Amino acid sequence: MAHMQQGPPPPLPPHWPQQRIPSRRKRLRNWILLLFLLMLVASIFKSWNDRVERSIPFITKEAPPITALHPYVSLKKDELIAEAAKLGIHILITDDHRSHEEQDALYEQGRTTKGPIVTHVKGGGSYHNYGLAIDFALLTPKGKAIWDLEYDGNRNEKSDWMEVVDIAKGLGFSWGGDWEGFKDYPHLQMDFGFTISELRRGFRPPDNPAIEAE
Ligand SMILES: [Zn+2]
Repeated sequence: MAHMQQGPPPPLPPHWPQQRIPSRRKRLRNWILLLFLLMLVASIFKSWNDRVERSIPFITKEAPPITALHPYVSLKKDELIAEAAKLGIHILITDDHRSHEEQDALYEQGRTTKGPIVTHVKGGGSYHNYGLAIDFALLTPKGKAIWDLEYDGNRNEKSDWMEVVDIAKGLGFSWGGDWEGFKDYPHLQMDFGFTISELRRGFRPPDNPAIEAE
């Protein structure tokens, strides 16, 4: 009997339990991976939720009407006036926030009422209606507002108008003179990434928007 036990060990039978353990581990690993992926998707969705909502055309939010310039835009407007003054350029802000009614009246100008056409949009279609835009004019030493793109009041051989535009862009404004098609030279705006459609549907930039560097 002892003799037989000294021979080479018999080949091991297929070891079922050992095979099951890795497969159970694998399944566990798959579940963890799936859970992790779900959490990742959820967190991405959560961080994109606002953006996703904004891009769905039928989602609207209750938002009180805007009655003043956005606080950040207002701050930057004051900086623009101050920075321009340092170069010897004095500007007048001719328009900032505009109510829907004021916008509608402006739309009629040049169409059913006197004056040149100055806008192509009705109430709710302009960034002015959401307190996100300003219009400027240059002021001559006599205090007369002018809209002369060539004017060089500070005699530095640069257009004062474009000097103001450059300061404004540095402060984060975009300029209506860069628009394709209809150019709105006095117009400066900050959209904070919000389209008119989103603003119409009640989405609003926060009062303290994080300004993304472009
Ligand atoms: Zn404007």
